[in-house]
Amino acid sequence: MDNVSEKNGVVSKNFIESIIEKDLDEGLYSEVVTRFPPEPNGYLHIGHAKSILLNAGLAKKYGGKWNLRFDDTNPTKERTEFVESIIEDVEWLTGEKKEEIFYASNYFQQMYEAAVKLIQKGKAFVCDLSPEEMREYRGTLTEPGKNSPYRERTIEENLKLFEEMKEGKYPDGSKVLRAKIDMASPNMNMRDPIIYRVARMHHHNTGDKWCIYPMYDFAHPIEDAIEGVSHSICTLEFEDHRPLYDWVLRELEFENPPKQIEFSKLYLTNVITGKRYIKKLVEDKIVDGWDDPRLVSIAALRRRGFTPDAIQLFMELSGVSKSQASSDYAMLEYCIREDLKLKRSRMMAVLDPIKLVITNYPEGQIEYLDVSNNQENEELGTRKIPFGRELYIEREDFMIEPPKKYFRLYPGNEVRLMNAYFVKCEEYITDENGKVTEVHCTYDPETKCGSGFTGRKVKGTIHWVEASTAKTATVRLYENIVDEEKGVYNEDGSVNLNPNSLQILSNCYVEPELANAKAYDSFQFVRQGYFCVDAKDSVTDSLVFNRIVSLKSSYKPV
Ligand code: ATP
Ligand code: MG
Repeated sequence: MDNVSEKNGVVSKNFIESIIEKDLDEGLYSEVVTRFPPEPNGYLHIGHAKSILLNAGLAKKYGGKWNLRFDDTNPTKERTEFVESIIEDVEWLTGEKKEEIFYASNYFQQMYEAAVKLIQKGKAFVCDLSPEEMREYRGTLTEPGKNSPYRERTIEENLKLFEEMKEGKYPDGSKVLRAKIDMASPNMNMRDPIIYRVARMHHHNTGDKWCIYPMYDFAHPIEDAIEGVSHSICTLEFEDHRPLYDWVLRELEFENPPKQIEFSKLYLTNVITGKRYIKKLVEDKIVDGWDDPRLVSIAALRRRGFTPDAIQLFMELSGVSKSQASSDYAMLEYCIREDLKLKRSRMMAVLDPIKLVITNYPEGQIEYLDVSNNQENEELGTRKIPFGRELYIEREDFMIEPPKKYFRLYPGNEVRLMNAYFVKCEEYITDENGKVTEVHCTYDPETKCGSGFTGRKVKGTIHWVEASTAKTATVRLYENIVDEEKGVYNEDGSVNLNPNSLQILSNCYVEPELANAKAYDSFQFVRQGYFCVDAKDSVTDSLVFNRIVSLKSSYKPV
């Protein structure tokens, strides 16, 4: 995909690219190596997609590589199920099959040795303060902290105690290993942070081998350094942790240490991204799993019918910066329309049918009309669609008493049936409640689409499907799951739900060609939007389509 920031031949770089290019020019690194380090404690969402595409994109742009690394140093919350879903999502989004997948937990031995090295250098000590005491000693933003009474333990004693922590001699939480930095530092992260704790927890990868686990701020720089990462890109909340990141690498004397760069998180207005909120919606069965098409997990976006190219375009439009800003969901919708516009066939589907009978068309006759799949892209070819005496049209395309400027069907009016003939409404039939059940028309064989007929014009064109060959389908229309008027979250942690977020239309008719549509296939249904075959619920004789997006847009790119 072209870089959308390429205007007038000038390519604008984001600030991370500028840093990387400077580093390469100065020979600081010989190769660009980045990484995406998810914690396997949930499904990935659109925010993670930004990080994935950024890291993968930089590696690609500078001919380097990027690692998918599970940051699985905290076993309480981690689950194998999430590892699998994350791999699937990352590979789908980047279109790359990862030959090797990295796990922070594979480096536990090296992390342990690194901790021993710090002790040997007099840069770490075992501390017996309780969590409450630790908090007291830590000080505040305005007051310096106090040294722990255990800070001056000898190197030998620290080595012995740390070894015993590892051997399981001490109960969980009773002792920690702390870096010896500066209790008066204005940066709280530098006040002798904990780097190892005792915790008897089963780990999804290492089982019960370890009963001590490293803390994130100690583990992360080591993981990056071991993998030869050059630029470790993370989000802004880690800016204050960078001095500690650098301290760890410096004290451990890594050559060519990685450089941490922070950018601002992607926020989407009126969208739920918080794991605990989504988890609650799943548990309460308000949504149909983590991949419910109303959510913005990557799995949900895929199921809804979003494409990697559309998500990539969205990330390019929203940019990479250090300033906090929120992007609009309408921009994401704009991106998927842009992506599918020329790539997908435009089919006919009737979502709210009434029958149209062409009284002067021979009974039992079916003719096949040649139709272009996409009028704006001839490369998509043509198809044949059946036409006959009985069709379905949208209920809203007929009115008994039309308002002004209504150019569709009403008694006495003539319209074009898309890709077919002119038909004129002669009469209509209603049931005992006055509800229209059939519209009767006559057609003019001279007016066949593509015949060059110029005798007269009509103002309205409506879509249709031939009744005897049509396939039935269920169509799901979506609105935001959040009630936008009220805002996303309530104070009690609940979500303001939009009661109309899902509308199920179970009596739709689609062209017979769609009988062969497979999971994730997507199409434009003319006048209705873009639709995708639902990967969970659609089967050959009972098709289910999700509306990805309607055709109308409120968003205009700048
Ligand atoms: P959440 O709590 O929203 O699930 P997280 O930060 O806890 O997110 P991690 O698995 O730790 O999830 O994140 C993996 C990577 O994705 C990190 O580098 C993190 O900075 C990045 N990331 C997470 N959320 C966003 C976001 N909204 N925009 C950009 N990057 C993000
Ligand atoms: Mg996290």
